[in-house]
Amino acid sequence: MAHLHPRTQLSRESIFAQMSRLAAQHGAINLGQGFPSNPPPDFLLEAARRAIGSVDQYTPPIGLPRLREAVAEDLGVSPEDVIITAGGTEALHALAEALYGPDDEVVMLEPYFDVYIPQARIAGAEPVMVPMQLTERWEVDLPALERAISVRTQAILLTNPYNPTGSVFSRAEAQRIVELARRHDLWIISDEVYDELYFGEPPVRFRELAPERVFTVGSAGKRLEATGWRIGWIVTPPGLAPQVAGMRQWSSFCSAAPLQAAVAEALPIARKEGFYQALRESYGRRKDLLEQGLRSLGLKTFSPAGTYFLTALLPGLEAQTLVREAKVAIIPGSAFYLHNPAPQGLFRLAFCKTSDEIEQALERLGHYLKQVTP
Ligand code: GLN
Repeated sequence: MAHLHPRTQLSRESIFAQMSRLAAQHGAINLGQGFPSNPPPDFLLEAARRAIGSVDQYTPPIGLPRLREAVAEDLGVSPEDVIITAGGTEALHALAEALYGPDDEVVMLEPYFDVYIPQARIAGAEPVMVPMQLTERWEVDLPALERAISVRTQAILLTNPYNPTGSVFSRAEAQRIVELARRHDLWIISDEVYDELYFGEPPVRFRELAPERVFTVGSAGKRLEATGWRIGWIVTPPGLAPQVAGMRQWSSFCSAAPLQAAVAEALPIARKEGFYQALRESYGRRKDLLEQGLRSLGLKTFSPAGTYFLTALLPGLEAQTLVREAKVAIIPGSAFYLHNPAPQGLFRLAFCKTSDEIEQALERLGHYLKQVTP
């Protein structure tokens, strides 16, 4: 009997899609999947309206030239090394396809962002997980990272700022990771989609430490509050962009042309007008609101240095019950762990929602906690 390939086991619904579906079904406030409640800025929307009807046909698979230039200009890299993708997810998928195959291993940290595992497996590779340490803050265990490297390791895959923990690697940690990659001759895939969302020092860009072995992933959706537009990018080590872009010819071919044109126009405006600074200030306020609210409910939180996510301990609670009964959707920590157990009661809460939504979610949580706590 004809059958689907066993790799379709990887087709199960993602935790983010599932929690958004349940939130809609139960009328819950969605602090689960990370997408902003606010609309994208007008300068982006207006640019898109102008582009539809004038930039409507295929672009080269490597991307619309003017967007490659805008990304390169923004990041201080050569446009030759920039590939435009359908969001960060496709960027990561293209890199998995281009960099690993059967019998290869990819070292990643736990908790991890969900797409990393299925993408590695679709490419035939095996993820090797290194748990982060959680004391008062999230920390990378560098000796454990080195122990995880074997002769089969192709790459270290990480995010900075880090989803789901919201942590940011210190320069010293980043340098140690780069040294490890050099010593063992590995690629580094640095998922930097939250590069403009930080609350202290700007995060280290791994590429600046080792341009010859770092692939950087970026996202217009995160920077410009348009996650559904699916415009992302890869910055490759010099000379490798044509081959990696050649791989995506066989999937999406190219990203939505008018949206590429709109992002090309918007990136320099965002930089010039201080859009990211305003975004950080606004997210900083919402982070504090959520964090203080959770603390005043007696809950333990781990303050993020970047992203729009906060991790917290809500012991004894269960995400599926919370969405149904408290009408608040949040992501269970277990969704970010493959081999190691998640810390007891760990959840990730997104604060890229309006202050009203955050306040209401806190009120609902408080009310629910009163009901269930003896
Ligand atoms: N990056 C988003 C998050 O972590 C989810 C993206 C997705 O659903 N694929 O919430």
